[in-house]
Amino acid sequence: MTHPSVRAAMVEDYAPWDNDFRAVYAGVFRRLLPIAGGTPDRHAVLPLQGCGHFAMEAAVRTFVRPGDKLLLPMTGAYADRLARLAEEAGRTIVRLPVPAGTRTDVEAVIAALEADPSIGHLALVYSETGSGLIHDVPVLAAAAGSLGRRVLVDAVSAFGALPFDISKLDMVDAISFTSNKALEALPGMSFTVSPIERLDACHGNAGSWSFDLCDVWDHQSGGATPGARRNARSTPGAARFTPPAQVVAALAVALDRYEAEGRVARLARYTENKRVLYEGVKALGLTPCLPEHLQGPIIVNVAAPNDPAWDLQRFVDALKTRGFVISNFYNTPEPSFRVGCIGAITPEDMAEAVRAIDEALSEMGIRERAGTPS
Ligand SMILES: *Cc1c(COP(=O)(O)O)cnc(C)c1O
Repeated sequence: MTHPSVRAAMVEDYAPWDNDFRAVYAGVFRRLLPIAGGTPDRHAVLPLQGCGHFAMEAAVRTFVRPGDKLLLPMTGAYADRLARLAEEAGRTIVRLPVPAGTRTDVEAVIAALEADPSIGHLALVYSETGSGLIHDVPVLAAAAGSLGRRVLVDAVSAFGALPFDISKLDMVDAISFTSNKALEALPGMSFTVSPIERLDACHGNAGSWSFDLCDVWDHQSGGATPGARRNARSTPGAARFTPPAQVVAALAVALDRYEAEGRVARLARYTENKRVLYEGVKALGLTPCLPEHLQGPIIVNVAAPNDPAWDLQRFVDALKTRGFVISNFYNTPEPSFRVGCIGAITPEDMAEAVRAIDEALSEMGIRERAGTPS
């Protein structure tokens, strides 16, 4: 869900190279940096057209040399995706099993890093969208840093809601996120915040022009970086390739709303959305997948009812006729349906959603609402 004012920014034509638009584009980077805790002299916001996986692939390619090892706690569907994109990029994933329904254990991370000194990086999913569980990235990153390792963070569903401060986490090479989750704009842009010093040190790793964050930085900084391949066309603040200009314009409006609300209030709203949903579905006789103390504020998985009449697509369709859209695919080992708590929605909207869920289940003739959590 996006706010009408955010969507309204998309109805105009923009010329990506136009000076008026450039100011909007550059302004977006300037405003995203403090959300990550970055400072302009030490950190860069690196844009990439496209989705969150593109930002993660770029971070992996830029900061991990071909063949080098990343330790990855296997927290769920999004850790699986990160493993795939890193392996297909020719990097080596060392998988750290994380039992379902548990937070990544810092002692297990330390033990795995100590056991294999050739692991240079730890990769972490902050809010695991597959499970709804939040992993303690600041603590896990600090542990890796104390062992001299670097860290990559998939903060796609967390960024802008959960706290993060890259200036206090010197071991972080990259925190990646998109325009369309807790920033409440439209999909189409992804971003990584990285230390400039590391960008200067990592030229030549990527094995890809499209996914090379050093090249993004060289272009953006006008090729001023030592080691940069100078590009005659590069101008500070200019886009490297054609950006989705409407998406950027909408993000600028979404950032006005973000700055007016503030991160803490936004997180409080999402947390209240989650509470209304979580307690609501329980009161309907449904089974949330996570116990309340592990349930994060971004996304809630609810076990599919143990009833022969259950059918995810029919359920999704019945909700849609009532004005609510949820995913129509499974992301958990056991069937579940998932509801996002983020976006331009309020606890009142969530209460309506709970009523719609109740009606949809009744309409489908579901008697046994309890389910088997993953
Ligand atoms: C949404 C999401 C992504 C990226 O998904 P895209 O479809 O590539 O934008 C990555 N990681 C997490 C944890 C996510 O929630």
